[in-house]
Amino acid sequence: MKKLLSVALTILMLVGLLGVAASALSPSHAPRLRPSPSGLIWPVPGFGRVANAFWRHGGRVHPGIDIVGHAGHSITGTGVVAVRDGVVESVEWIRTFCRSVFGYEVLIDHGDVNGFNLSTRYVHLMAGSVRVERGQHVVMGEPIGRAGNAGRTRAPHLHFQVLINGRPQNPLNFVSPANGAHDPPIR
Ligand SMILES: [Zn+2]
Repeated sequence: MKKLLSVALTILMLVGLLGVAASALSPSHAPRLRPSPSGLIWPVPGFGRVANAFWRHGGRVHPGIDIVGHAGHSITGTGVVAVRDGVVESVEWIRTFCRSVFGYEVLIDHGDVNGFNLSTRYVHLMAGSVRVERGQHVVMGEPIGRAGNAGRTRAPHLHFQVLINGRPQNPLNFVSPANGAHDPPIR
């Protein structure tokens, strides 16, 4: 009787192990979009390097993060995606952030999140690459344009902002390279 019980237990253990092995072998079942705890994904699939962080010194501020390429992999021309569902609030040609660097910027309104308005801004998009227009609804992961840099001295990068009630926050408190930077880049 005791032997029968141990055989039954062994069979149960084997079934359990096989189940674990099977789930580990089926990555296709894993969702491609893995939002951060804040519900946002990384804005540039394939590119997780941040060259310039969010900072505030006295009256000066760098109100976002600069996401750049890495050795042998230029970020220029790479697809930039909406980090969450939302509505395009504006598409503008500007030269405001990161001195002497020009480009298109897209502002997306994600609506109310826990009683606060959340919006995100994507700056230095390549001229002619912007795929969205004001008032358009976008979904998380949807390409909105391509990273670029029409400026003079800086390396190509995406300047990315997260705003709560219109005020810039440190984006790294909301997004992480773990939530999309290791996905294949969108070309
Ligand atoms: Zn910047």
